[in-house]
Amino acid sequence: MANTVGIDVGGTSLRAAVVDPAGRIIDRERVPTPNSAEALEDALAHVVRRLEHRNPVSAVGLAVAGFLDTDRSTVRFAPHLPWRSVNVQKRMQDRLNIPVLLEHDCNSAAWGEYVFGAAVGATNVAMIAIGTGIGGALIFNDELYRGFYGTAPEFGHLQVVPNGRPCACGKLGCFERYCSGTALVDTALELMVSNPDLPTELNRDVTPESELTGRRVVQAARAGDILALRAVDDFAHWLGTGIALVADVFDPELIVIAGGVSSSGDLFIEKARQVYRQHLTGSGYRPFAKIKQAELGDDAGQVGVARLARKLITEEA
Ligand SMILES: [Zn+2]
Repeated sequence: MANTVGIDVGGTSLRAAVVDPAGRIIDRERVPTPNSAEALEDALAHVVRRLEHRNPVSAVGLAVAGFLDTDRSTVRFAPHLPWRSVNVQKRMQDRLNIPVLLEHDCNSAAWGEYVFGAAVGATNVAMIAIGTGIGGALIFNDELYRGFYGTAPEFGHLQVVPNGRPCACGKLGCFERYCSGTALVDTALELMVSNPDLPTELNRDVTPESELTGRRVVQAARAGDILALRAVDDFAHWLGTGIALVADVFDPELIVIAGGVSSSGDLFIEKARQVYRQHLTGSGYRPFAKIKQAELGDDAGQVGVARLARKLITEEA
């Protein structure tokens, strides 16, 4: 039996799933994320009780987009959640009377891919999750690598362009400022200004009433829009550059590209792979890491953290 619950605790919604031992989602709940710590804990408890009522569960995993302490009981800080130095594990365990586990959201997703998705069979994996920014995770010799203080890895803020685009983190030229949904828009807008003669249908999207989105740029690129294709090409270049940096430090056997943008991987993965191969130190004299798209989509975090929560009740990884 031993089904477990995995909850993706995001800034806009709580996405909960009952996951069976084979990684299948057998039930789901989704509610908006409340904006006080107390209301958030109430909502989590409520969602778990509703799921429990329909399917008995033995443990709960929470995938949290934020900084956790080294024993992963306390959320130190999460930019889009109300918890500040709160021992969420204890508070939720006291309320639910079953074991509760906390994990970083990217680590959770990487674990889902490792056990059930794109990274099955690999032992050393780097995941680059591309959305509005970049999230990262490392699996090192079949274990999640979190760093000594629990905050590794931050691939998104590796500097790829000295004195480049400003980043919310305070630095200039971070990887995610050139390779993310947001970056794709910035690049398209820059190209419109610097190459006014490039034909593009995206001009129509840039009005005082509307805003260009990464999704729109991808859509235009798919339709053959020259400017959008150039923006995607630039994105692919920086993705390959970033992959080479990660590979230089970590030497993984597999790199999984995840996040919202990964579903459009057919547009940029081949170019990124070429750039990675050119930039890798010692290229030509060492094996290349495989580069794959994630397979579990939005479910990866819930499935992964539910699987990690199983460790609280069984010896199974
Ligand atoms: Zn940054």
